[in-house]
Amino acid sequence: MTTDIHLLKFKTTDPVDDTQKRIMELFNKTGLANKIEKDDMTSVKVHFGEHGNTTYLPAHYVKPLVSVIKSKKAKPFVTDTNVLYKSRRDNAVDHLTLANEHGFSLETLGAPILIADGIVGHNDIPVQINAPNNKEVYLATEFITSNSIVVATHATGHLVTGLGATIKNLGMGMASRKGKLIQHSVSKPTISPQKCEACGLCIKWCPTDAISINANHAEINNEKCIGCGECLAICRKDAVKFNWDANSKFLQEQIVEHALGIVKQKKGKIAYFSFLVNMTKDCDCLKQPKKFVLPDIGVLAGNDPVAIDQAIIDLTEKDGKNLADLSYPTIDPTPQLEYGEKIGLGSRKYNLIHVDF
Ligand code: SF4
Ligand code: SF4
Repeated sequence: MTTDIHLLKFKTTDPVDDTQKRIMELFNKTGLANKIEKDDMTSVKVHFGEHGNTTYLPAHYVKPLVSVIKSKKAKPFVTDTNVLYKSRRDNAVDHLTLANEHGFSLETLGAPILIADGIVGHNDIPVQINAPNNKEVYLATEFITSNSIVVATHATGHLVTGLGATIKNLGMGMASRKGKLIQHSVSKPTISPQKCEACGLCIKWCPTDAISINANHAEINNEKCIGCGECLAICRKDAVKFNWDANSKFLQEQIVEHALGIVKQKKGKIAYFSFLVNMTKDCDCLKQPKKFVLPDIGVLAGNDPVAIDQAIIDLTEKDGKNLADLSYPTIDPTPQLEYGEKIGLGSRKYNLIHVDF
């Protein structure tokens, strides 16, 4: 099946007021607003950006999505889930405070901000999918409870999946703590004794106290490790290693199955907006300011997360390299697209429609 994907070009240097109006037109004129009905509790899924990150999707591009939902007399709330690793986003209290500091508030957006899986990520509802790896998946309560969803995604590279975009925002971003743990269940890193300088930084950040220093280098206790990847991100000596080939494919399939849970449960009442601006090598979970790896392109809108992510790969390709290649050239992002198509999450075939409002 071929699906229509709409591309509205803009740059972050364009006047914000003008871009906001154009995004509202995109939502209204492409028919995506018809997915929202009067009185729908509508979750707007975003990423508020990790503390220290400055390249997350700014709140002013989320505001027009909220405005259109309100114009349909529905009830929007802007939301994300808690993360597994130690962070200001690992509990709802700090997460909401950070969201406010990053410009996501009732005052700036005109909608309340919630954390969809509760104070510490325990609030979930199992959804039956009967997929090859999981009979059911564990998704944050408020995504399941809400009547419709608008998914606002910031396209970036990703250190485990190559591409961090729409499918990942759905499958990992809407999973509860339990769902995220299942997705990471085989991703266990190892530490190189030759490279490790026993600085202890990874010990400080490990959420499960799985790392200790023995014989002048760090070691990981696999019984305690949940595979969150925080030690990999934080080590400055390149001492932490993952078996990417095995783990990336498994993780991508797990993400796709969790995404399928949301899509099945919402029965078409989802609209996707994926922003190809401020594109960085790493996702917005990383703390440090990041450099852009590509110039801004704009925003893609449609009904199909697989088609949109395929379009992101295609549109970011230049001289044989796309966003994933420019970010992590040894990690293949296509398993999420192929597996997504295989189990019915969506189609890689799309018809790109350039719009200019
Ligand atoms: S952060 Fe890296 S160098 Fe420091 S103890 Fe951990 S693995 Fe070793
Ligand atoms: S040792 Fe395991 S649980 Fe601890 S930070 Fe590394 S991946 Fe996460």
